[in-house]
Amino acid sequence: MNRIPISMPIFNGNEKKYLNECIDTGWVSANGHFITDFESKFAEFCGSKYAVACSNGTTALHLAIECLDIGPGDEVIMPTFTYIATANAVAYSGAKPVFVDVEPHTWNIDPDKIEDAITPRTKAILPVHIYGLPANMDNIIDIAKKYNLYVIEDAAEAHGAKWGDKSVGAIGNIGSFSFFGNKIITCGEGGMLVTNNELFSNKMKFLRSQGVDPNRKYWHLSLAYNYRMTNMQAAIGLGQLEQVSWHMNERQRVASLYKNNLSDYGDLFSMQAIPEKASPSYWMFTIKLSDKVKCERDVVMDRMEKNNIEMRPAFYPMHVMPPYYDASLSFPIAEEISKRSINLPSHANLTEEHINYIVKSLIDSCSY
Ligand SMILES: *Cc1c(COP(=O)(O)O)cnc(C)c1O
Repeated sequence: MNRIPISMPIFNGNEKKYLNECIDTGWVSANGHFITDFESKFAEFCGSKYAVACSNGTTALHLAIECLDIGPGDEVIMPTFTYIATANAVAYSGAKPVFVDVEPHTWNIDPDKIEDAITPRTKAILPVHIYGLPANMDNIIDIAKKYNLYVIEDAAEAHGAKWGDKSVGAIGNIGSFSFFGNKIITCGEGGMLVTNNELFSNKMKFLRSQGVDPNRKYWHLSLAYNYRMTNMQAAIGLGQLEQVSWHMNERQRVASLYKNNLSDYGDLFSMQAIPEKASPSYWMFTIKLSDKVKCERDVVMDRMEKNNIEMRPAFYPMHVMPPYYDASLSFPIAEEISKRSINLPSHANLTEEHINYIVKSLIDSCSY
């Protein structure tokens, strides 16, 4: 068996045609119709009124934070179990990321622990739909309303996932997406913000492009950024978005194959439990080793690597890593998930044969 990568981008639509158009016409930089086309199609895809494209998922989150005037002295509540970008985007603005533990069954922010973390300085709640599984948006929105807080959704891993009949990203005040090469759809590097608030949409566009006065060329009104997306990125992104149902269905197929194959091994592995209202996007299919597996997680991963399968450890919690280390914090659920979980190869080119091979290798690797 050739090496099975954990993830791979797949371009089977108009990506190349659109990209060639950028080169043929010279529209390669941050102007061009692919940017506005990608934005309007993405807004429609999420069921939100506005979308703002930018350079990556981290700058998207930073724009959302700055748009809401969150800065020094402010606090933003987020799960400790996430990718570092969620915390960094808040720290860039001078505000403080405040971490809370996750639910043992979904691995998403535990709404029951949010209220304890709220202080007079709290400005926003920033749930992350981890590995594509929607966080409990009903409870999060209720808490935000009660305390008058903003909700920014980090939907970087969850394009097309739904909570009830709503697409994630379009439920809070602002939703943020990433199009990095390993995400559900990609444009190399890229990000997108969605909102129903016209003022937020305009302000995020203003902030992504050096704070220039919309009515006076080269007159800059405030400190801002160059976080623009290029027409080339948007060309690829639009080609991908046209195929998004295919990408989503394939990930669903891969997840079902894993679940069927693993169903007899419930004593060895657990997975994220899917709440009734959640329709996940299955970005990364992830298993957690139970106590019955006697070896270390990293030993299991090394054995699988020897079988030519690329694996990835689950994210480290924010509060244990140098930028956010705090000895006074302990979040046992996130720590346990992080220590014992593995991302399995998750992409649309995986066949049933691949999945059978991966699961067999996993079971063998856990058995001694
Ligand atoms: C990928 C990711 C981001 C950031 O995206 P980039 O495009 O890599 O900057 C943010 N949050 C989460 C949870 C992610 O997985």
